[in-house]
Amino acid sequence: MLPKIDVPIYELQLPLTKKNIRFRPFLVKEEKILLMAMEANDADSVIVAVKQILNNCCLDDINIDELPITDIEFMFLNLRARSVSEIVELPYRCNNKIDGLPDETGVPISQRECGNIVNLEVNLLDIHPETHDKKIDRIEFNEAMGLLIKYPSFKMVEQAQKQEGSEVDKLMNILIACIEGVYTEETIFYSKDIPQKEMMDFIENLTREQFNKIQEFFDTMPKIKKEVDFNCAKCGYHEKITIEGLQSFFV
Ligand SMILES: [Zn+2]
Repeated sequence: MLPKIDVPIYELQLPLTKKNIRFRPFLVKEEKILLMAMEANDADSVIVAVKQILNNCCLDDINIDELPITDIEFMFLNLRARSVSEIVELPYRCNNKIDGLPDETGVPISQRECGNIVNLEVNLLDIHPETHDKKIDRIEFNEAMGLLIKYPSFKMVEQAQKQEGSEVDKLMNILIACIEGVYTEETIFYSKDIPQKEMMDFIENLTREQFNKIQEFFDTMPKIKKEVDFNCAKCGYHEKITIEGLQSFFV
């Protein structure tokens, strides 16, 4: 029998749930899964592949489906860093407008874009989502009433993708899936005991101001992002840019 190859084991704390996990780097078999998903080039295949790879490589018994998206993305980023390389090079095009050379009449040709390709180097291990000091698990509408809420999980997004309907419907479904209950001074109505239709009616009857509070919860959700310096050697243009979302770190 051929010898078994030892692989290193890494530890990681997930930023939102604060769970500690151990993982091994992904191997040729997992890279194959990923490549096949990327060839298929649809969001569903990529989600399935990422889930499968995380399940394979995570050495602790955790339910990937139930983790918030940001934890999943953070885990995948670290897995990628330990398996392939910590540094990724992301090509960005310089869109700075520079004056064109004058034409034969001496009038400058209208401004054109620089177009230089700058490779931005990012260390994946330097990316840490900004988490809130305190865990946010409720949205208060007034002193007497509010929502119990949690961040969207992998499973919720996956299920919403599969449902029929417009993008607005899908977003509403994710939102409703994130509501764990409605609390009042006296009691808590848990979502699992309430028909989806009734919850939808409840949300649709919120005031603009109340709905904005829900919006704010999602807008301030810790995200995978990194600010980097963009410097163009060709035209001297400089800008701080923010790279956001898991897929932006892979080209
Ligand atoms: Zn430039």
